[in-house]
Amino acid sequence: MSTRCYVALGSNLQQPNLQLDFAIKAMSGLDATRLISQSSYYRSRPMGPQDQPDYLNAVAELETGLEAEALLDRLQAIEMEQGRERTRHWGPRTLDLDILLFGDEVIDSERLKVPHPGLFQRNFVLYPLHEIRPGLIFPDGQSLAELIENCPADGLARMESE
Ligand code: ATP
Ligand code: CA
Ligand code: CA
Repeated sequence: MSTRCYVALGSNLQQPNLQLDFAIKAMSGLDATRLISQSSYYRSRPMGPQDQPDYLNAVAELETGLEAEALLDRLQAIEMEQGRERTRHWGPRTLDLDILLFGDEVIDSERLKVPHPGLFQRNFVLYPLHEIRPGLIFPDGQSLAELIENCPADGLARMESE
């Protein structure tokens, strides 16, 4: 059985565009997983501490035969491979990969919360998601289109693809 899922990518250190390229390639190569689509890259202002570079964000749509926790393991391994260090909360990072949605599953365990709790209010996640899946409905019945209407795109800039 395979599951459609959405992963948020973020980076603000060590050539963020290359970090995102790398992450997309690495996720495409995961076992039992294929890349269905990816958004453009978006520049965004940092959340939390402001004394750090702007971020580059994107969303990828995957089809995977992995369980959600196994996917999280693989994503964390990719983050580590890119030299991710956990310093400050919401501090700068080479690569951050968050599971936004995993099919219609609602998960609330110690290490995994799905839908990702930040999903509903972060414009740097909602806009890229809307670009690739404008008709998306969340497990609780909310529509992405409606959330977008109430979420200003302040500080967000879509990058031209090269
Ligand atoms: P935020 O989660 O608010 O975006 P962050 O991405 O900076 O903050 P991290 O330090 O990357 O937070 O992750 C902290 C922990 O969050 C991870 O170790 C992981 O176990 C947990 N986590 C819970 N839900 C998810 C999810 N849906 N996707 C990825 N990690 C998750
Ligand atoms: Ca995050
Ligand atoms: Ca994270």
